[in-house]
Amino acid sequence: MHEITNSGWIEVITGCMFSGKTEELLRRLRRAEIAGQDVAVFKPSLDDRYGEETVGSHDGRQWEATVVDPEEHVWDVADELNGEEIVVSGTDQTFRGEPFEPLPRLVSLAEYVDKYQAICSQCGEPATRNQRLIDGEPAHVDDPTIMVGATESYEARCRNCHTLRTD
Ligand SMILES: [Zn+2]
Repeated sequence: MHEITNSGWIEVITGCMFSGKTEELLRRLRRAEIAGQDVAVFKPSLDDRYGEETVGSHDGRQWEATVVDPEEHVWDVADELNGEEIVVSGTDQTFRGEPFEPLPRLVSLAEYVDKYQAICSQCGEPATRNQRLIDGEPAHVDDPTIMVGATESYEARCRNCHTLRTD
């Protein structure tokens, strides 16, 4: 798919939830491993848990990942790029439909970007947004971006069907 160079490159896989980002990441990891390339998987911690975890997809395929602090230098990948192929996967929007760093920044620095769509759970159109639901109701616009331990759920939705509580 890509010509190998000595300068390295960054690939970004992004899109909303349920768009197949993790499956695509795992496909690329397997491809590199089959070719005998060294691969390392990092995963941002959303709470206090660090150490070994796995990146998995819904069909049960898993990969060992090192869980890191999102503020750590591992996300400054452009500064560290030295002949490495770096693949980053993550959602690019908050539940409000706003840019969700570091993905937008990485998109601007990357050589290759693939943005995937899910299918809107309401109308069946291509979905690009993360609809957060609290007890089945749309989340409030003032809710924190990351809610650790909350009883929340998510749906993929299109622009028209994406809603936020503002009352
Ligand atoms: Zn829709």
